[in-house]
Amino acid sequence: MHDDHHHHDHDHDHHHHDNRYSDMQARVKALETVLAEKGLIDPKAIDAIVETYETKIGPRNGARVVARAWSDAGFAEWLKTDATAAIASLGYTGRQGEHMRAVFNTPDTHNLVVCTLCSCYPWAVLGLPPVWYKAPAYRSRAVIDPRGVLSEFGLTPPETKKIRVWDSTAELRYLVIPERPEGTDGLGEEALADLVSRDAMIGTAVAGVKP
Ligand code: FE
Repeated sequence: MHDDHHHHDHDHDHHHHDNRYSDMQARVKALETVLAEKGLIDPKAIDAIVETYETKIGPRNGARVVARAWSDAGFAEWLKTDATAAIASLGYTGRQGEHMRAVFNTPDTHNLVVCTLCSCYPWAVLGLPPVWYKAPAYRSRAVIDPRGVLSEFGLTPPETKKIRVWDSTAELRYLVIPERPEGTDGLGEEALADLVSRDAMIGTAVAGVKP
């Protein structure tokens, strides 16, 4: 099954699930249409559920990873050296066994994640990818003009700050660990996790700003 979806024109090894997703999405769409026609479901309710998975339930896992890293220096160190194992210790593992790498924002460096070839995304920690992440405009421009892309998301890092762009693959997915916001010293992990949006873990936002 897996080998049916190899792309041969890639410059990095990129196993492909996207075709399988397309099949699945088509089946889901067909089912949704039949149920809606029979009056059994409200398409708006489905949209609301998908939206919730995109922005709330899925990314909450990643937010807990970030909050733990902010609270526990040993965990942060583990995340730097073996993110796959550190993240798995919290119960979050990849669907396909892909490896994770955590990239830490610092006062000197801001990290931004993209998949230039398709839409590889750290499902285990972020849930469903947003539509813009899969859009050709984001995928090409994140590499060519990361500052331009960030400004469209409302972020304008100083020129002195380096922007590093990480290109995901099916084998390696990135999670941005944003900088811990000022004035959060007294907060516990759940309260800290509330400050970490999905976009902050992709790198199109910073922590502490509500999405
Ligand atoms: Fe991809």
